[in-house]
Amino acid sequence: MIFPSFLRPDNLSRKMMLVIFSIYLFVTCLITSLQFLTEYYRTQDSILNELKQLEETVREPISTSLWQYNYNQLDALLTGLVKMTIIEGIDVIDTDANTLMSKQSYNPDSKPLSLFYAESDAYWTLNGEKVALGTIKLYSSSEVVLDRVLFGFFLIAITAIIKLSILFWLSAWAFDRYLASPLKELMTQVNEVQSSPTISKRISLENIQHNELGQLQDHMNTMLSVMQADRQQLLEDEQTKRSSLEDAVAKRTEALQILNEKLEDLATRDSLTGILNRGSFFERSQHLLALSQRQQSTASFVLMDLDHFKVINDTYGHFAGDKVLIHFTQTIQSLLRQSDLIGRVGGEEFALFLPDTAPDDAFQLAERIRMTISNAALNVDGRIITYTVSAGIESSRSGDDSIDALFKRADSKLYGAKDKGRDRVEK
Ligand code: GH3
Ligand code: MG
Ligand code: MG
Repeated sequence: MIFPSFLRPDNLSRKMMLVIFSIYLFVTCLITSLQFLTEYYRTQDSILNELKQLEETVREPISTSLWQYNYNQLDALLTGLVKMTIIEGIDVIDTDANTLMSKQSYNPDSKPLSLFYAESDAYWTLNGEKVALGTIKLYSSSEVVLDRVLFGFFLIAITAIIKLSILFWLSAWAFDRYLASPLKELMTQVNEVQSSPTISKRISLENIQHNELGQLQDHMNTMLSVMQADRQQLLEDEQTKRSSLEDAVAKRTEALQILNEKLEDLATRDSLTGILNRGSFFERSQHLLALSQRQQSTASFVLMDLDHFKVINDTYGHFAGDKVLIHFTQTIQSLLRQSDLIGRVGGEEFALFLPDTAPDDAFQLAERIRMTISNAALNVDGRIITYTVSAGIESSRSGDDSIDALFKRADSKLYGAKDKGRDRVEK
């Protein structure tokens, strides 16, 4: 850009200066016009004085020419006078107001706009007495006045225009440097602060010293610091709230998880013994059976029923019966592998699903269970309870895809064990 910024049409300094200087120009023109008028009338007065002095000088020869009726001499006199710059015309009028002779320097068609004149009486002194001969009128015009005044005013006008122009540009430059430019810079920096994500930026203007703009900058920076601190505080509060909320959510999630596990236990486990209930035992056994069939391995199913349990209930009471059921499950659990499945499938009826277990191995395990139980003695409130268990074993064959079928076959084996006197394992 060739021009400095304060010359741009949208610049504040330029607009301000235009307003100020338009007013200044108007006032200057008004005052100059008044000066011009005053000067005009002053010059007109001085021309009138000059005319009067001229009349004093020419009155004598004109009076002589009139007294002697020497009109040739009068004509030559007036012709000479009219050639003078300040004289536009001369009238010589007799005592009866008749024009004796009249001469003008201008063409009759282009009469000057304004004519003014000085007049004096022409007379002749005879025997000490004045004889009136007429009146002499010397004319001048506004054009003569303007000729004298205009040059001076032309000089004044030119000087005024030069002075005005220099003042205008200097003032515009100063206004731009000390006010418009810092204001523009202030706006730019405010925009930068607004668009920055943190309010860490501060406003720093050049060429402002300690004036009002400097104070404005200080106030804005103080305001920004307060805003930054408030924002920081808000962020910290938010963070605290968020972490406490996260803690609360984590605790609630943990509680829900525990509750879910409890609910799942309630749905899948037997409440007295803690082992799988009938439904979930059959569901999982069914799944394991399918798996073992896919792997073409043998799985075994053991169905166990406590012998004469009704008698135990009747002899020791229902509470002692419950203790026996718990004792039974706890005792046999220690004999099982991790992969074996145990479930309570009836009141005093239990089942084992043994993956990857041949009939002989299943028989050995069932025998070990049977013997462990028949050798155990349970103390309930100081009374010793002994009991026995019967079991039926069935192993999977190829094509066995239903756990119910396996259960039915094991059940008939169990029936056989009961039939043969109880405390037995039938395979
Ligand atoms: P068997 O040798 O032929 O199996 O005779 P049993 O008496 O064991 O068989 P029965 O089916 O006649 O009796 C089973 C008893 O088990 C009847 C029932 O009251 C009892 N029982 C079932 N569930 C529970 C339980 O949860 N607690 C207690 N204490 N007794 C139960
Ligand atoms: Mg039974
Ligand atoms: Mg029974």
